[in-house]
Amino acid sequence: MPVVNKVLVVGGGIAGMCTAIELRKRAIEVDLVEIDPEWRVYGAGLTISGPTLRALRTVGVLDAVMAQGATWEGLDFCDASGKPLMQMDLPTCVGAEDLPPTGAIMRPVLARILGQATLAGGASVRLGCTVTDVTQDPDGADVVFSDGTCGRYDLVVAADGLHSRLRATVFADAPTPRFTGQGSWRAVVPRTVERARMCVGAQTKVGLNPVSASEMYLYCLDARVTSEHVVPAQWPSKLVRLLAEFGGDVADIRRGFDDGHLDASRIVYRPLEGLLVPAPWHRGRVLLIGDTAHATTPHLAMGAGLAVEDAVVLAEELSRDAAASLDDALTRFAERRFERARLVVQSSLRLGEIEQSGGSRDEHSQLMRSALAAVTAPI
Ligand SMILES: Cc1cc2nc3c(=O)[nH]c(=O)nc-3n(C[C@H](O)[C@H](O)[C@H](O)COP(=O)(O)OP(=O)(O)OC[C@H]3O[C@@H](n4cnc5c(N)ncnc54)[C@H](O)[C@@H]3O)c2cc1C
Repeated sequence: MPVVNKVLVVGGGIAGMCTAIELRKRAIEVDLVEIDPEWRVYGAGLTISGPTLRALRTVGVLDAVMAQGATWEGLDFCDASGKPLMQMDLPTCVGAEDLPPTGAIMRPVLARILGQATLAGGASVRLGCTVTDVTQDPDGADVVFSDGTCGRYDLVVAADGLHSRLRATVFADAPTPRFTGQGSWRAVVPRTVERARMCVGAQTKVGLNPVSASEMYLYCLDARVTSEHVVPAQWPSKLVRLLAEFGGDVADIRRGFDDGHLDASRIVYRPLEGLLVPAPWHRGRVLLIGDTAHATTPHLAMGAGLAVEDAVVLAEELSRDAAASLDDALTRFAERRFERARLVVQSSLRLGEIEQSGGSRDEHSQLMRSALAAVTAPI
């Protein structure tokens, strides 16, 4: 028997949807509120590393993800001209040796798969709705919603992302997101590579990851002094400039965006921010999960993976021992999750620092290898 009967999930992103799916499997009643009336996700590629695939299998959506995304075995490194330098094999995960070590999928495709599973699992989903007030007493949390309705819950899961309002209210003393000095550029283009490729230039690196049978996404990071907004009209010209030093497939992509042959609306820019809220991640009956608790830069491609894993571990801890208190279950949850989240967030921040300072390539590749190996451990 789980230690909760009725849970509110605030936020219908990867963490919120996976939480709803996992809790419903334990017959826990779940309401999910998502602030966006259309439940949209922006159209970028998302790398789903081995641990993410392993956790998505537990959630029960792996077949759909593999059918609609792309997976591969290793990474090809090239110089800026596109000349092959070396190949890197990626480690498989403990307990998932039969799965490919990594892959990628379009964010909206993953969101659709998880959204369908959330609804099929029986969670009650309300769109265009958020929480305006939470008050707690020893037996429950009373919640007021933006549509004027109210509800009483055993647990409120804050999965409303990096700039969480619920965190700002309930964890007013928690750290806030910090700009890391890099911006991320991504663009979806027709697929020309068999498996992932990383082209290493003097100024930046450019990655090409397949996201489906026919498409791949290009990503690169750009050192920036501030997190100022870059207007979307400028995205194509800025990305074209950033790719100037590259030849081969990357040069073809650059020319495609320059001459309008490729669809510039498929370019996305985001400043990178990081956050690690110290454990415990609950205050009474309000719990932070996913980016709300720990947001990482994409250097290890593990942010979404951590969000899926959080959902899996939370559901396990809530149903491990019927005699345990909610406080014990949530304490155990953070104990199992904090060190792994810290490793991902801090290693990713360090990788970004090395890139910005032009630091040691050896330190960069050693840290990358050791962190990627560490996250293959069981959760
Ligand atoms: C540039 C970039 C590239 C990345 N690439 C990768 C990658 O390749 N692989 C990877 O694993 N991770 C990657 N990540 C990290 C990954 O995107 C996040 O870790 C993941 O999306 C976190 O999911 P989440 O559900 O916790 O938060 P979110 O995805 O932010 O979802 C939060 C949800 O809550 C909703 N919401 C917000 N406010 C409210 C409110 N007040 N009330 C109700 N609902 C609300 C939002 O609309 C949204 O649906 C990347 C991140 C960035 C910035």
